[in-house]
Amino acid sequence: MKYIMALDQGTTSSRCILFDRAGQVCAMANREFRQIFPRPGWVEHDATEIWNTTLEVSRAAMDKLQITAADVAAIGITNQRETTVVWDKATGEPVANAIVWQCRRTAPIIDDLVAHGHGETIREKTGLVPDAYFSGSKIRWLLDTVPGARARAEKGELLFGTIDTWLIWKLTGGRVHVTDVTNASRTMLFNIHTLRWDEELLELLQVPAAMLPEVKPSSCVYGETEFELYGGKIPIAGAAGDQQCALFGQCCFEPGSMKNTYGTGCFLLMNTGREPVASQNGLVTTIAVGFEDHVEYALEGSIFVAGAAIQWLRDQLQLLTSAGESLEYAQRVDDTAGAYIVPAFTGLGAPYWNQRARGCIVGITRGFGRSHLVRATLESLAYQTYDICKAMEQDAGIPIRSLKVDGGASANDFLMQFQSDLNTCSVTRPRCIETTALGAAYLAGLAVGYWESLDDVRRNWAVDRVFEPRMSAGERDERIRGWHKAVRCALLWGEE
Ligand code: ADP
Repeated sequence: MKYIMALDQGTTSSRCILFDRAGQVCAMANREFRQIFPRPGWVEHDATEIWNTTLEVSRAAMDKLQITAADVAAIGITNQRETTVVWDKATGEPVANAIVWQCRRTAPIIDDLVAHGHGETIREKTGLVPDAYFSGSKIRWLLDTVPGARARAEKGELLFGTIDTWLIWKLTGGRVHVTDVTNASRTMLFNIHTLRWDEELLELLQVPAAMLPEVKPSSCVYGETEFELYGGKIPIAGAAGDQQCALFGQCCFEPGSMKNTYGTGCFLLMNTGREPVASQNGLVTTIAVGFEDHVEYALEGSIFVAGAAIQWLRDQLQLLTSAGESLEYAQRVDDTAGAYIVPAFTGLGAPYWNQRARGCIVGITRGFGRSHLVRATLESLAYQTYDICKAMEQDAGIPIRSLKVDGGASANDFLMQFQSDLNTCSVTRPRCIETTALGAAYLAGLAVGYWESLDDVRRNWAVDRVFEPRMSAGERDERIRGWHKAVRCALLWGEE
């Protein structure tokens, strides 16, 4: 058996990568699919299109290498998290479009739960901040809104799944209805301490237990693909949410090890080992990975606008022709001429959690130009990351000595150096930045013995470049002080 197949089902595209034992990308195929915006703040996907594009890319990747099902040892799945599908068990048809994690339509359901004093229960049992982001309120909305759905769900005629569950169900021809613990931990219905669906939460969100998938480890054989799909049966042996897979793909196996993914947003996850750590600083507690005999937990901090701010420079302000060009502009100047930009376009996430904050550019003087603005925008990704790292250090009680990075914007050397300077820690960029798909491949490969052990996997991890801090302490403190002043301006703007 030569390859492991990773299905990376993301928010904007479905992707398949075939990896070999050395963790090398041997073939890749990618298809974008439709983003549906029925109203401001609402985001939907067509789950059938998600399935079709996933099947297409997996076949296309196999065709590139001219291989058959017999050459694929196992399939691992990693997925956009929290996105909610409800479908008919008999026909396999979704009852409505999938509600995407970004969708804000269920905010009133959450406000109501919090107003009735249930916020603390949710926080304690699930480790999450009560929010429309997670699946629970999305399921409730579908059952309340689609005619007849609630009664049918109670009779066991409808099934719920996040995208991992939906794909496994489709791949097995409707025989297997499961999810993994990491995906379960993002539903706001799963108790991360007992590792079971929680009756009190199901009651609060009015979700019938009959529609829920069985919860399994992230690395185990869930079932086999239908023979007709690939002309042979392939075991499906790994599944985890995208950020958890990136943590695993970066080989963050020990407590205290962490990664930051610089994509549209930034997602920092720190492995905290076998005990969940409750955050005092606005982070969420989540399951990092589940094995047959134990689970490991993580602290997570999310930044809503990171690489998206570079897209904004390119598309709205038309200051750049490509995101990569930001590097050249940033290097043309020595600093930002004392100015800061806080890209709080949709409010501020961890550790500030303020929905009303808005973006601002402060401290501008006459000499401030295009290069300064580009540089200040890039720096804002690093400052936001710095704030979350400080929150993590306080919650975990351990100093961060090294940060592993991935995602599109981690290619930017200026940004990585600045991050290292701010954090006064080393920043390490691996050679393979497809860490999300790699993590899914590892989970599946470990379950079927393609890789023997974590040590076997760890040998594949190779460094592209390490950035070491070189800014003076005085300069660093001065800049961070300025950043926090700028954040106060963004917060103040949200006040009446
Ligand atoms: P996602 O998976 O969230 O779509 P990616 O990991 O593909 O994101 O990263 C894309 C993001 O990274 C975009 O927002 C883009 O603006 C930003 N980006 C890509 N390359 C660079 C670069 N060289 N410098 C700065 N930002 C970049």
